[in-house]
Amino acid sequence: MEITTPKFKENAAKALVDQQLQKALKNVEKGFVEKRAAAAGALPEFEALRDNARDIKNHTLAHLDLYLEAYEKKVTEAGGHVHWAESAEDARRIILDICRKRNAKTVTKGKSMITEEIGLNDFFEKNGIEPVETDLGEYIIQLRGETPSHIIAPAVHLNKEQVEGDFRRVHKHLPEARDLTEPVSLLSEAREVLRKRYFEADVGITGANFLIAETGSSVIVTNEGNGDLTQTLGKCHIAVASLEKIVPTLEDCSQILRLLARSATGQDMSVYTTFSTGPKRVEDPDGPEEYHVVLLDNGRTSMLGTEFQEMLRCIRCGACMNHCPVYHAVGGHAYGAVYPGPMGAVLTPSLSGIDIGGHLPNASTFCGRCESVCPMRIPLPKMMRHWREREFERNLTPAAARYGLGFWAYFAKRPKLYRLAVSLAMPVISALGGSKRRLRRLPLAGGWTKYRDLPAPEGRTFLQAWEAREARKQETAR
Ligand code: SF4
Repeated sequence: MEITTPKFKENAAKALVDQQLQKALKNVEKGFVEKRAAAAGALPEFEALRDNARDIKNHTLAHLDLYLEAYEKKVTEAGGHVHWAESAEDARRIILDICRKRNAKTVTKGKSMITEEIGLNDFFEKNGIEPVETDLGEYIIQLRGETPSHIIAPAVHLNKEQVEGDFRRVHKHLPEARDLTEPVSLLSEAREVLRKRYFEADVGITGANFLIAETGSSVIVTNEGNGDLTQTLGKCHIAVASLEKIVPTLEDCSQILRLLARSATGQDMSVYTTFSTGPKRVEDPDGPEEYHVVLLDNGRTSMLGTEFQEMLRCIRCGACMNHCPVYHAVGGHAYGAVYPGPMGAVLTPSLSGIDIGGHLPNASTFCGRCESVCPMRIPLPKMMRHWREREFERNLTPAAARYGLGFWAYFAKRPKLYRLAVSLAMPVISALGGSKRRLRRLPLAGGWTKYRDLPAPEGRTFLQAWEAREARKQETAR
């Protein structure tokens, strides 16, 4: 998986002073969080569903080979084709071959993070095929030449004035004097422009939220219906999915679906939930003539049996990033990778290697909110800690951090010395806080106070305060 830029710190510094971005990020911080809380609170069995969903996925991952084989058999019986892609390169080649056989010039696409992961749009363009994104957010960022900044809301970093500017720049065939001031007029224009593209397309490509072993079905959830048009109007439908999207049965799928939209957008269900099984049958009124599924590994099987296996339970709801204070502060592009936020901080090094993505697990405060809201109960902070350990073991941690940790460890292993050092340092640091009791700068740790002040310590260590309290208690007891 490609990393667009490994410079998280530099990206984050720019994002923090980008006023427009900061305003847009407030929508994530408030809207998604409140809606999820309301939806989860209104469903008494929400927590039990999370336990079930975790167990379903754990069971599936323990028998992944069996369920994938069963799925392939069912797809084939329904008249479809399953293609196994070990790497992103394999997946691109398989998809291109299918498109070439259909002599495809235009391909419509439903929203799919997996095609972002394999860099499909650039590859198509290099090979003379025009990809047309049909999800509104994806369409907007395609016009801008950008990547998604959020896995369920790819254009969440933009405001409507920016979108209006893009539409006026690109939709030159429409009257200049048209009114695009309201979101609904932008939506109508995108719908009008995209509608005819569905009919022009030779192939429709979607991702899959789930693959069902019992029936050989692929499932997509959308709010715009664009995925359905993409997969039914083209003569050929290609579903691209990673291996871990498999679930054993329709019942399992329906259990996890009850969590997905609630965790993502706070809806009980997304507006469209579509199950596709094979190509169009004789009696079907519509549907594709050909149905292909490209199953991508791209490093996932190497996560099985490791401390990162639990990450493969992820259903890409986005709740972890919606609740992440780091994501709220810098947005998705700062991560410089396809998958941002806490889930990306764990998944990216797993897929790209620690040399490339190993710095991302450091973009966390370890507050634990991501784990507390993850519908699949994925222990994200624990896994980020594992990555940090591996980064440290391989000497990839920046020298300043290594020396800092070594210095701290020296004292931490010698409690008496530690207490002495802290008791000497504390009054000095406290005095530096002045009358406002705030530290505006910290020697050797300027990053902590670059964008905010640090409250000054009281002047006593925790142990001194505790000893004083105990002494008072004994005094009172006498
Ligand atoms: S890690 Fe959990 S919260 Fe984050 S996207 Fe995946 S399922 Fe959703």
